[in-house]
Amino acid sequence: MQEFEPVLLKRQGKMKNPASATEYCALGGFEALKKAVKMTGEEIADEMRAANLRGRGGAGFPLAVKWKGMYENPDFPKYLVCNADESEPGTFKDKKLLETDPLSVIEGMLIAAYHFRSERSYIYIRGEYKLIQELFIEAVQSAEKAGFMGKNIMGIEGFDHMITVISGSGAYICGENSALLNSIEGGAGRPRIKPSHEMGLYGKPTLVNNVETFACIPEIVNKGGKAFLELGDESGGGTKLISLSGHIKNRGVYEIPLGVPLHEILYSEKYGGGTSTSRPIQFCHFGGHSGAIGFSEQLNCNYSYGDLQANGLSIGSGAIVVMDYSVDVIEYLKKVMEFFAHESCGRCTPCRIGVVRMLEHINSFYEGTAVEGDIEKLEELIEQVTSLSACGLGQACGTAVKSVLKQRRGDFDSRIGGLR
Ligand code: SF4
Repeated sequence: MQEFEPVLLKRQGKMKNPASATEYCALGGFEALKKAVKMTGEEIADEMRAANLRGRGGAGFPLAVKWKGMYENPDFPKYLVCNADESEPGTFKDKKLLETDPLSVIEGMLIAAYHFRSERSYIYIRGEYKLIQELFIEAVQSAEKAGFMGKNIMGIEGFDHMITVISGSGAYICGENSALLNSIEGGAGRPRIKPSHEMGLYGKPTLVNNVETFACIPEIVNKGGKAFLELGDESGGGTKLISLSGHIKNRGVYEIPLGVPLHEILYSEKYGGGTSTSRPIQFCHFGGHSGAIGFSEQLNCNYSYGDLQANGLSIGSGAIVVMDYSVDVIEYLKKVMEFFAHESCGRCTPCRIGVVRMLEHINSFYEGTAVEGDIEKLEELIEQVTSLSACGLGQACGTAVKSVLKQRRGDFDSRIGGLR
């Protein structure tokens, strides 16, 4: 594994109080903000473009494109939202970042605020992260006391900004950007008809970025977009936080430069260290339940946006759930579908009904009651649900099943006509 200086976890364990702006400044904090306020909007946009930062929430959308739309929108006021509703199964990397360096997220948000001339932002933190919510509020107050929040930030007339912390209430669907905006407005946490960039908070231009995405911004401004890109590969710049869990020896959150061999993430002692059992890896589930499952023959690639995609996989949220040969992959898929059936918000029919039907189909394979033609029926159902559903949940709920059907169709075939 190539040696590199951590970007996102560089202050981990170095501050007595991670919410202290004084300690943050002593470790180079807010230097990027000081630099950004001397740059023009075009210069900031150029650095973002050169960095090729792809959103770290799961979709991997290029940040520069999202920021361009927001920057060029003439409407005001503009709102920023940090999506910290981290609830994709197997994903806990934003938790680590918020616990160890919340002010890096705040600094990223402030650079965005300056760039977009936004005076108000919200961070929506999942309800289960109660202590993190308290820590983040403390960090905001500390930043304000140090002159990095509130009115005339750093003495610059007209640079006003305030961050409000909002608590989620445990609904997975609120991680979907437009549902999250509804929830902030006090409405039901259900996706909107239009995406968040078309129908923002209170009908105004709104930029929604993930926690890790905002935390990358100070590094891009400090070192330049080109240097950030070189930490990754041409399909996506920077380092990435990954959450390793399941049958892996060293479970936890790691920062890796994008483009490292996946094999090293899974087997080197510095990271995964191989399986925690005596059995080899059967498969890895990438990017949470919404992502694809990769079997051993797909794991000889680099961990980058481009290489994973070429192997039918994706980075998604950065989760890697490792499963050994003790796991029945059909039973695993059943658990995945139970999750989606539970979390579907019910607003649109293809997802509300279709996810339950998909679960019933998977269950018939699990229980050995599937008959000839059921695989084809399941495939047709997946096609309909994923193409007709209104939001990312319904559109991605069949990804794991599809990936297993593609690589291990025999596992379904062998269950037809009873368990053998
Ligand atoms: Fe709700 Fe599912 Fe429709 Fe999304 S796809 S709006 S979660 S019912």
